[in-house]
Amino acid sequence: ILDHGMTRGNLGGDTAEDRVARLRAGLTPGVPASYRRFVHNRIFKASYEPMPHGGWVAIHEDVTEQEHAAEAMREQHRRFDAALNNMAHGLAMFDSALNLLVCNRRYLTLYGLSPEVVKPGIAMRDIVAHSMALGNYAGLDADTIVAGYVRQLEAGEYVSYRQLGDGRIIEVVYETMAHGGWVVMHEDVTLRHRAEQRIAHMAHHDALTNLPNRALFRDRMAEGLTQAMAGGEPMAVLCLDLDRFKLINDTLGHPVGDKLLRAVSDRLGEALRPTDTIARLGGDEFAILVAPTRPHAVEALADRMVRIMTAPFVIDGHEISTGLSIGIAMAPADGTTADQLMKCADLALYKAKSEGRGSFRFFEPDMSARVEARRALELDLRQALGAGEFHLVFQPQVRAENQVLTGFEALLRWSHPRRGLVPPAQFIPLAEETGLILPIGEWVLREACREATRWPEAIRISVNLSPVQFRGRSLTAMVRSALGAVGLAPGRLELEITEAVLLSNEEATMVELHDLRALGIRIVMDDFGVGYSSLSYLRSFPFDKIKIDRSFIADLDVSRDKSKDNAAIIRAVADLGASLTIDTIAEGVETPEQLAIIRHCGCTEVQGYLISHPCLAEAALAFIRDHRDGIRPGERAAHLA
Ligand code: C2E
Ligand code: CA
Ligand code: CA
Repeated sequence: ILDHGMTRGNLGGDTAEDRVARLRAGLTPGVPASYRRFVHNRIFKASYEPMPHGGWVAIHEDVTEQEHAAEAMREQHRRFDAALNNMAHGLAMFDSALNLLVCNRRYLTLYGLSPEVVKPGIAMRDIVAHSMALGNYAGLDADTIVAGYVRQLEAGEYVSYRQLGDGRIIEVVYETMAHGGWVVMHEDVTLRHRAEQRIAHMAHHDALTNLPNRALFRDRMAEGLTQAMAGGEPMAVLCLDLDRFKLINDTLGHPVGDKLLRAVSDRLGEALRPTDTIARLGGDEFAILVAPTRPHAVEALADRMVRIMTAPFVIDGHEISTGLSIGIAMAPADGTTADQLMKCADLALYKAKSEGRGSFRFFEPDMSARVEARRALELDLRQALGAGEFHLVFQPQVRAENQVLTGFEALLRWSHPRRGLVPPAQFIPLAEETGLILPIGEWVLREACREATRWPEAIRISVNLSPVQFRGRSLTAMVRSALGAVGLAPGRLELEITEAVLLSNEEATMVELHDLRALGIRIVMDDFGVGYSSLSYLRSFPFDKIKIDRSFIADLDVSRDKSKDNAAIIRAVADLGASLTIDTIAEGVETPEQLAIIRHCGCTEVQGYLISHPCLAEAALAFIRDHRDGIRPGERAAHLA
């Protein structure tokens, strides 16, 4: 038979003899055996069944399909196990009676479960009990947990989260299987959850100070408003602004500025209750929500905050003095929406700042109208220089003893096409606040110098300088350029500065002043006596002239007592000036009586309506012509309009 089979190619490379030999070797009498044979790419199974009296019954069967199917199944199992155990998710399959069908390694490691305990067939309740013993569930019992589990499954809730004893957060997703039972996927989402929380935190907090940001502040404000409106206690919104922060940031650098902001937020935080919200709105702007509260409590709080901010901060070895301005709005009195309240608090802050820094103000209804008016004025001021709306007037200054003309003070005038003549007291502070004083001040200086070149050599020109101009780019270079452009001798220029220039006590300001004086320019201390420390500033810089403020002069012949005091002060300043060889000029002299007293006190020069009102350039020239040799007291310049 084998020979025949060989001719059909059934034996592969074997001969019939080889086969018979092998069969003989492989078969033991009385013992069944089976072989697999590959014939023409098919698998045959030959089973040898012993017969009772020796010999075998051989059964040949084509098992190709079965074998392939079994192999495919094994492969499938291998793949499934590999996939199951390499999943990032923990997976457990339960039948409809909640007994475990299969689970993967990740499922076990996720909860630290023992593979000895958690085997197919184990009831879910027993897994939970095992898991609890490992400390995975805090404070619950297994039945409650399983009941909750079952409830979720029945309710068709497909995602839930559970927090483990060690703080990890597991996301559990259920899926119902076609034939009953469930696949449950477990995933450790702790990191994702933290990242989400971090993102949510970042969306609501300022990165630098970690304080709530504007968005969160508005949310809290909305909550507070709801309560205040529902008849609760009032709520206060405070807008805070650091004084001089920009200057500090510019001069000491942003890292110092950042540290200062953090230190400030810490210090402010200490003044607050845990229920108050402090937020950083951006830059050096902070806001505080106090609810519930009462106006007097807010007032006390604001006062305390302003005071604690006066103590200097020490940052990177710099001692930094700043200050706090606060604007306060109350809800529901000042507004019933977040926007309204912020606007009111902002207006009050604006007011607090304009009235001198380091103070607080409550919102008052007419603030908005005034601020609107200021905004409009600012818009006009921005284009005034370009539109040629400025001009200068000149007010004579004369020697007190003989009224010989010594010079003119240049005073700025703004004639607006609609507003008419706007007083400097209205627009100069605005120009200073907006920085417009830099180009405007430069224009004044150049214009004044140019005009002075038309005058005799002996006549000086006085120009007012704003403190802000000392903070701009090199002032000395600008002044030198203005003089050079028209060829005016530096000795003919006087610069009037107020004590506000010296208040900042900046090294750079002193250097600038000395540089200017080294050019031959005369430096005048303006408005002497208005501030607090005029006298002490006289020690810090060699002024060429002191101008006694007109408020001292105005009272000279009115109330007797005060007039005596003022006369004494004027005399003291004049004496001091004389001994330091500093000229003294009294401004605002309006009456012959005032002039007489001033002369008596020993002032060297006078300026005021008595001599002349400030006048236009052409009138100033006429004044020079008419009064080079002095004028008599009480004589008014008849040519003045
Ligand atoms: P100031 O420097 O004290 O200027 C003197 C002010 O007193 C001037 O007011 C002048 O018109 C006024 N005045 C002069 N004589 C008399 C008098 O006999 N009686 C009275 N009651 N007043 C008199 P003005 O021109 O309105 O200027 C006000 C302030 O504006 C000035 O005060 C000065 O601080 C500022 N200012 C004016 N022009 C400029 C400027 O070009 N630059 C800067 N930075 N400030 C200026
Ligand atoms: Ca002046
Ligand atoms: Ca003055």
